[in-house]
Amino acid sequence: MVSAAPAKFSLPDFRKQILDWFRANARDLPWRLTREPYPIWVSEIMLQQTRVGAVREHYTRFMERFPSIVSLALAPEDEVLAAWSGLGYYRRARLLHGAARFIVREHQGCLPRTAEELHKLPGIGDYTAAAIASIAFNEPVAVVDGNVQRVIQRLFALSGAADSPSDSESPSIREYAQALLARRRPGDFNQAMMELGATVCLPKKPLCLSCPVERHCSTRGEHAVESRPPMRSRQIAYALVCRVCRGAAAAQEVMLERRSESASQMPGMWQLPEVDLLPDDEKRVELTLRHAITVTNYYVRVVRLSERESRRRLPARDPQRRWIKTSELGEMPLTGLARKVLQRLQVMPVLDFLPSQEG
Ligand code: SF4
Repeated sequence: MVSAAPAKFSLPDFRKQILDWFRANARDLPWRLTREPYPIWVSEIMLQQTRVGAVREHYTRFMERFPSIVSLALAPEDEVLAAWSGLGYYRRARLLHGAARFIVREHQGCLPRTAEELHKLPGIGDYTAAAIASIAFNEPVAVVDGNVQRVIQRLFALSGAADSPSDSESPSIREYAQALLARRRPGDFNQAMMELGATVCLPKKPLCLSCPVERHCSTRGEHAVESRPPMRSRQIAYALVCRVCRGAAAAQEVMLERRSESASQMPGMWQLPEVDLLPDDEKRVELTLRHAITVTNYYVRVVRLSERESRRRLPARDPQRRWIKTSELGEMPLTGLARKVLQRLQVMPVLDFLPSQEG
């Protein structure tokens, strides 16, 4: 068992208290209504680095659109990216889609049942493999995400990364997590640990007075955990260029450009064209907003250009730039920022709300 446990630590009590607390306090989330592996897989991928509130909204629509692994595998990639738009970190959507195709081709459309086999699929790392295997298939394997890591560090006054203890004699955080795991209810236990980190053992101010395992805790929140790196700032300007569609008087088109496939963030997604602002543009800026992508705060200004101005102001004809009917924007794999701008300027309807980050 855990060698560095505090003297007052009782493993059976700890497991019982955290499981009882989870049963009474778990947030009501749509992916918790099922033990089916596919919805659990989709939700776990969406939840990586994205707020629960943002995932909740997108998850339901995504599952309506792609209700099975087969329907996801058969969809064109652009359709999957469009359904993911606004969630950010689009590489996840591509990997999810690639893995669905692989599962249909190699596993008759069924997810493997063990963490070890799941780990072999594209885009499924330690965390996701353990989450699916424990929640959907009851495999006793511990999940270690940032929340679980923080809880364990505080419970046992530890430092170091999940797999590397601060000294070579000590167990790693992953080994602590595995030792703590309630082996008969691994799915519930893993979710309870993640929930405790997300709602009680908060990064800055843990709510120790409300904590179900407070009496097992060595630090009661006094333990320092690594703070996030400071955010960088970047100014950026986009052009909004609209025109009435030829041959259809009531329809409008907007100019978009496709990000390069080799871009490090959001490759292949569609955005408004970037533009260099001129001194006179300040008076005609239609929208300013802040948008966070990973560790950068983008301070965005949007200026409306006529079609004629766009020919002069935007870099020479770019094959990646197209006129898109505004009625088709909902089907486009837009970046979250493009969607936010187009919705704020009422070029496309607001169908959802946006998370604060993407990448
Ligand atoms: S007592 Fe406080 S620091 Fe310890 S696990 Fe609970 S919330 Fe976290």
